[in-house]
Amino acid sequence: MNRVRCLVLNAALGPLDYKVPEGLRVEPGSVVECPLGPRTVIGIVWEAERLPGTEVPAEKLRPLRGILPVPPLSAPLRRLIEWTADYYVASLAGVARMALSSGGALKGPATMTEYRLTGGLPERMTPQRQAAIDALDGEQANIRELSGIAGVSEGVLRGLVNQGVLEPVEVDCDRPYDTARPDFVQVDLSAEQQAVSDVFSAAVRKRDFAPFLLDGVTGSGKTETYFEPVAEALRMGRQVLVLLPEIALTENFLHRFEERFGAAPILWHSSLKSTERRRAYRAVCEGSAQVVVGARSALYLPFAKLGLIVVDEAHETSFKQEDGVRYNARDVAVMRGHFEKVPVILASATPALESLQMAESGIYEKVDLPSRFGGAELPAIELIDLTEEKPPHGMWLAQRLVDGIEERLERGEQSLLFLNRRGYAPLTLCRNCGFRYQCPNCSAWLVEHRFTRRLACHHCGHEALAPQACTECGEPDCLVACGPGVERIADEVAERLSQARVFVATSDTLNSPGRAAEFIAAVEAREIDVIVGTQLVTKGFHFPELTLVGVVDADLGLEGGDLRAGERTYQQVAQVAGRAGRGSKPGEVLIQTRHPEAPVIAALAAGDRDAFYSAETEMRREAGAPPFGRWASIIISSEDDGEAREAANRLGAFRPDVADCMILGPAPAPMALLRGRYRYRFLINARRSVQLQHVIRRWLTQVDHPAGVRVAVDIDPYSF
Ligand code: ADP
Ligand code: ZN
Repeated sequence: MNRVRCLVLNAALGPLDYKVPEGLRVEPGSVVECPLGPRTVIGIVWEAERLPGTEVPAEKLRPLRGILPVPPLSAPLRRLIEWTADYYVASLAGVARMALSSGGALKGPATMTEYRLTGGLPERMTPQRQAAIDALDGEQANIRELSGIAGVSEGVLRGLVNQGVLEPVEVDCDRPYDTARPDFVQVDLSAEQQAVSDVFSAAVRKRDFAPFLLDGVTGSGKTETYFEPVAEALRMGRQVLVLLPEIALTENFLHRFEERFGAAPILWHSSLKSTERRRAYRAVCEGSAQVVVGARSALYLPFAKLGLIVVDEAHETSFKQEDGVRYNARDVAVMRGHFEKVPVILASATPALESLQMAESGIYEKVDLPSRFGGAELPAIELIDLTEEKPPHGMWLAQRLVDGIEERLERGEQSLLFLNRRGYAPLTLCRNCGFRYQCPNCSAWLVEHRFTRRLACHHCGHEALAPQACTECGEPDCLVACGPGVERIADEVAERLSQARVFVATSDTLNSPGRAAEFIAAVEAREIDVIVGTQLVTKGFHFPELTLVGVVDADLGLEGGDLRAGERTYQQVAQVAGRAGRGSKPGEVLIQTRHPEAPVIAALAAGDRDAFYSAETEMRREAGAPPFGRWASIIISSEDDGEAREAANRLGAFRPDVADCMILGPAPAPMALLRGRYRYRFLINARRSVQLQHVIRRWLTQVDHPAGVRVAVDIDPYSF
């Protein structure tokens, strides 16, 4: 082969052709170094016939500079990259970048240097040095990563290295992982579990594509039913990918995995250290990584011999990527299984309507686990109508709910209060002038966090110290917190039940695997009586002594015009309810609401899942919403409001006129300002027969925009 076509990663130019120099052996999938102007960029050799052609004559081609020492990307992964770019209307280069996960993993040497504390002290202590030493206790990473952990500059850390306070450690990135053993521990499955597990294991042995929807109530033991097929894949020498929605919550899973297989699985997520990233990436592409547990980005890892994919809690919205390439990991997982010819298990107690529909139409095979493992009953659910049982003035919990917690306290049992709002209060205003504290970069209120005494934006990360006096009118001590967040609920519990030991569980407090592990241990040791938490606590946890779940505000998710609001509310409440009574003691769930008659709430109270799904199905059918019709959105943004509006209008002028395809907008997006960018949106609703991606692609190519304008396409969007 003399001339090759390459997908060049950091170029918006499209594919480029190169000459293969004497002595270099490349094949489709090879990761190569391509000259581009004065630079060298990474590219992937691709089948020329699958990419648009280039016209450069042979004698003008520049030679490839070299090849990276990694196995070529496999054909199934190349097909997945093409499919993703095509389906989500993204650039091939953008998707390919995800598969190569930012170069470092490829090029890094086999040995890398990290630093750790020696225990020694600097000659002169400064507040920054002290802060660094406090923060880095037990940490080991490179200087850049340590600087992030410690919140001090790299210069400060280099100073500490020079003074012998930090010492270098050589890390061997090629050291092997412990071997997971398929038969380390034998688990006796219930008859119900065994039947399900057998179906999966047979599919693994068949080595063919087979998508499954594992529909099992909370506590039915879904994990055990897919551990056996995982073992089967290991026996066959194949690799397994398990996707989990919240990497903070993997601790519990990792522990169970290790007990079953005698070794920890390999983790893959965005906050891995560079040494871990390189080690894992190599092990995955060489085939020595047996089981990878990852966040959605793990889907694009170059597995050498994949045998099974599991997506646990498959309904979770965190599988949807909301920036860059906006893909849904649940759907991409199925496509990866399709190209790799391996089974895919989507596990959930509250499947997405789309998944149920796929099962109904025979595309997915549905397997059920209708009862809890070990005979535990599903909890009894009751509504508290807040219009009748009003909480005391200035409080948020009805007396009946507080009584329920008190009963648990007396019996030494635990309670969980769910409110999907971090911080103390979602809105802060000035009593004197009425000023509302808003994020300077986003159309969002600043949320008061009392633990850290800050006002924070949950969209862009902007933070400011909570002011002593109003920043608008100067009046001192005039700020009023409006509405409850979890911190405020925790205060209320502590005030009304002084003996209760309360813990706030959110992404603020459980922000590392270590913190999550401490939390789980504290609950298991019964050092916590009441957990107040956000959606983070709705999934995965198994606390046998937890017998009461209170939903502080079930109506919260139903506000706003979100198409999936009903489904999401149902899922969240059903999942959090599923935390109650998982051991031998029965569970009780109390749901506070102002709309007991709303179909979702009524279905939850009646424990009638089918009623909810059929009402939701009818509503979607009428609205032409997924899975019956399709939605897409196009967001045009710029740091300049006028520029964004103009660009949106220009695009609007070229709006295609296609039958069965309705295009709304442009209008200001629901978050009209986000991270400093002004946003305008088109919403597209089409019948399934419309070639939606084709329509969008053709439309977008008709208009050029100034450099400051970004156009983002979201196929099957979650948030409208
Ligand atoms: P789900 O994910 O369906 O909510 P889990 O897989 O977390 O349920 O299982 C619930 C609990 O039951 C866990 O503590 C698990 O260890 C236990 N369990 C499930 N199946 C078995 C089994 N076959 N033998 C022993 N314990 C089991
Ligand atoms: Zn913001």
